[in-house]
Amino acid sequence: MITLKNADKYIESRFRRTFILKGIDLVVKEGEFVSIMGPSGSGKSTLLNIIGMLDKASAGEYYFLDEPVHKFSERKTSNLHKEYIGFVFQAYHLIDELTVYENIETPLLYRGVKSKERQSLVAEMLDKFQMVAKKDLFPDQLSGGQQQLVGVARALIGKPKLLLADEPTGNLHSEQGEEIMNLFKKLNDEGMTIIQVTHSEKNAEYGSRIVRLEDGAIVSDGK
Ligand code: ADP
Ligand code: MG
Repeated sequence: MITLKNADKYIESRFRRTFILKGIDLVVKEGEFVSIMGPSGSGKSTLLNIIGMLDKASAGEYYFLDEPVHKFSERKTSNLHKEYIGFVFQAYHLIDELTVYENIETPLLYRGVKSKERQSLVAEMLDKFQMVAKKDLFPDQLSGGQQQLVGVARALIGKPKLLLADEPTGNLHSEQGEEIMNLFKKLNDEGMTIIQVTHSEKNAEYGSRIVRLEDGAIVSDGK
């Protein structure tokens, strides 16, 4: 599903090039559940953002479903992102001015899903996440755990082939974190490909493979 070949990410200033990622080779097959670990500043978020097409590698090749993403325009990668990828952020990234209902609905609007279908999909999600009673609340009226559930619901509503999550439980109590990890496990059992960034060895155990980053390079990759 994903192939990165010798991918770099660097920042250029007038006098030098600073590498954030260097020589990344990574293959992720459909149905895998991968955890990316590593010290703070090692490039985990940058790597996940590149995989999720929120950012672009500076050099190297990126194939997603055999498509050469590194050759695509921003518009084309953005369309690929919308069609195939659900992204969960550590800091939730909900839209403060929108209700729970509207936040969950947003990806469907981007994709041009018709009103009737949107209604039924959002209703299904609210039900699944037991948030029906909270649908008209705004993010700041929810606890962190509830906000992250909204973030996960929003990421899942478009039935993405690939779910990416950047420290999804980083701001949560262990019980709420466990709930989200169990949900990921279930989604993976049902066939969804998942890549998560985590600091927690325990959370990493929910997956089947751990990729470790240090100073922008993969230092180990295994079961
Ligand atoms: P991690 O998620 O592992 O903590 P990041 O991918 O966020 O690491 O960042 C890796 C390194 O790259 C850090 O040193 C960070 O300061 C730097 N970095 C990330 N994005 C940028 C940017 N846009 N400009 C300059 N430096 C950046
Ligand atoms: Mg990070």
